[in-house]
Amino acid sequence: MLNIDLHCHSNVSDGVLSPADVVTRAAANGVDVLALTDHDDVSGLAAAQTAAAATDMTLIPGVEISVTWGGQTVHIVGLRIDPQHPDLVAGLHDIRLGRIERAHRMARDLAQHGIEGAYEGAYGYAANKEMVGRTHFARWLVARGHAPDMRSAFKRYLTQGNPGFVEHEWTSLENAIGWIRASGGMAVVAHPGRYALNARQLLLMLDAFRALGGEGIEVITGSHHPSEYGKFADLARAFSLKASRGADFHAPGEGVDIGRLPELPHYCKPVWQGWPELAPHFSLSTV
Ligand code: AMP
Ligand code: MN
Ligand code: MN
Ligand code: MN
Repeated sequence: MLNIDLHCHSNVSDGVLSPADVVTRAAANGVDVLALTDHDDVSGLAAAQTAAAATDMTLIPGVEISVTWGGQTVHIVGLRIDPQHPDLVAGLHDIRLGRIERAHRMARDLAQHGIEGAYEGAYGYAANKEMVGRTHFARWLVARGHAPDMRSAFKRYLTQGNPGFVEHEWTSLENAIGWIRASGGMAVVAHPGRYALNARQLLLMLDAFRALGGEGIEVITGSHHPSEYGKFADLARAFSLKASRGADFHAPGEGVDIGRLPELPHYCKPVWQGWPELAPHFSLSTV
C-alpha cells in the first residue's frame, strides 16, 4: 500500500518548517506521494519540488483555499493544480491582501482587550510576510504568556466570541473551485468535520460543492477524531465524492505527523485513482 498524504503546511503559510524541510520529513516518514497545501499561497511549491526530486517521493502541487459559504469559513484543497495559472495566482493574491487587512482588525480588537502589539507580534512569526493568519497570532500569544499552548490560545482568543476574533469574508466556493479547475486541478473539501455548519447545512454545502465541479472530500484527516472517519466515508459514498487522506501537518509535536494516518476505508474511491504520478511507484515494485 502506498503512503499518500495530501494535506500539509510549510512556513509559506502557518506551518513552521520550510517547504524543503516538510518534504524531507515526509520522505523520512515513508511517504510515497505528498501534496503541499499551504493556505492561500503556492510560493512554496517550487522549493518543495526541488527537494522532492532528491528523494523517491512524488510531490503533488496543492493549495488550501479559504472560502466563505453560508456565512461560515470552509477550506477547499486543490490538488494537481498549476501554480502558475493566472486566475489562481490572482485569486490567491487577493485573499492574502484580505488576510493583511483582517490582521489589522484582529490586532485592534486584541488591543481593545488590553493586548498591545499583536500585529507586529504575529508578523514576527510569519516567515512569508504576504501570508499571515490566526496561527501566527496564536504562536505570539503563547510566547507572550497569554495562553499556555496553541489549543488554549484559540480557545481564549481568535475564535468566535473571544478577543481577537473578527468576521471576515473570504472568497466564494464558486471562485475557489473555479480557479482550481481552471488550473487543471481537483477540488477537495478539507476536514468536513471542522465547520460551524449543522448537519443540514453540511449537506447543502456538499451539494453546492458538487454542483460547482468539486470532486473530493477528506475522509482520513489529522483534523478529525478517528471516531469521525466512518461518518465522512459514508458521506463521500452518498455524494459520490472521491476520498482523500492528509495529516494537515503544521509543526513537529503539534497534531498528527506527515504520513502517520490510517488507510482509507476499503469502500472509498481514492482521489488519486488513475493519477499518472502514481505509476512510477507501482512499476518500481514490478521491475
Ligand atoms: P486562518 O485561516 O488564519 O483563520 O487560520 C486557520 C488556521 O488556524 C487553521 O488552518 C489551523 O492551522 C489553525 N487553527 C484553527 N483553529 C485551531 C485550534 N482550535 N487549535 C489550533 N489551531 C487552530
Ligand atoms: Mn493552518
Ligand atoms: Mn484547514
Ligand atoms: Mn490545512
